[in-house]
Amino acid sequence: MKAPIHSAADVPALAARLRAGGLVAFPTETVYGLGADAGNADAVLAIYETKGRPRFNPLIVHVADLDMARRFAAFSPLAERLATLWPGPLTLVLPRLPDAQLSDLVTAGLDTVGIRIPNHPLALALIREAGRPLAAPSANPSGKLSPTTAEQVVQGLGTRVPVLDGGAAESGVESTILKVSGDEVTQLRAGAFARADIEALLGHRILVAAANAEISAPGMLASHYAPEATLRLDAAQPSADEAWLGFGNCPGAALNLSASGDLREAARNLFAMLHDLDRTAKRIAVAPIPHHGLGEAINDRLARAAAPRG
Ligand code: AMP
Ligand code: MG
Repeated sequence: MKAPIHSAADVPALAARLRAGGLVAFPTETVYGLGADAGNADAVLAIYETKGRPRFNPLIVHVADLDMARRFAAFSPLAERLATLWPGPLTLVLPRLPDAQLSDLVTAGLDTVGIRIPNHPLALALIREAGRPLAAPSANPSGKLSPTTAEQVVQGLGTRVPVLDGGAAESGVESTILKVSGDEVTQLRAGAFARADIEALLGHRILVAAANAEISAPGMLASHYAPEATLRLDAAQPSADEAWLGFGNCPGAALNLSASGDLREAARNLFAMLHDLDRTAKRIAVAPIPHHGLGEAINDRLARAAAPRG
């Protein structure tokens, strides 16, 4: 696989690469996505490293059909109705099934999952052939414009990642994101699927999250995981009433993100260890984490988890 740009004939080889934990950029009807096996934590981390993304936001899981979606998310009758709008540029945020084989780096530690069926024949062929759900943010370096052609992907990411060429993406705008909880539907992000069409299907208006919903209403609309416990960051030592979450050489740590000081291992452990300590401790002290590489995203997530809520 030398040339970075590939045609439909290469779908089997690209799917094999995804199954082996590699990244593949692929076309959707919105923009080109940078895809990885959503069940493989290291593959998902490679998305962050390749994009230089400074933040662990939850990633959208792309599936080929409703049966595949049902392996990861719980579909209420209301969610089933909204799913009749698939395939299309519509992401549904639904309760994550407890036994869903998804990395918690995909859901960013949340108990929900954002999922969609893209409306692009090559995206569907790739997902089917891989037999894996694909986590895929836009295939551009962080902070740059989302690519709508295979050439733009190569311009942005270079030749490290093979690109499945499906021509120009139709919309160039990201998917509309709806959160379904109970009998309430809330638009978390406006996007390529018109709200009017969603409301026409349901026969009523839906709620629209405020632009800063992420930092309001913890646990409701929050798109980041916030522990109950109080977090103290950059803690070289814990005090008597704190559980210490270590990094590197931290004797006495309740848990250690990576005793050897490996940021990749720390990122893999981050959400599970926060959840674990949150169950048993009221106060958590977190050892200093270096700020380079994945450390930036780890520190961003910790800073949000430590921010006072009111
Ligand atoms: P994108 O960068 O286009 O892949 O979009 C990812 C965005 O989807 C995130 O930044 C969130 O805003 C949203 N999202 C995905 N999954 C969830 C979730 N489980 N809960 C809330 N928002 C989500
Ligand atoms: Mg993007």
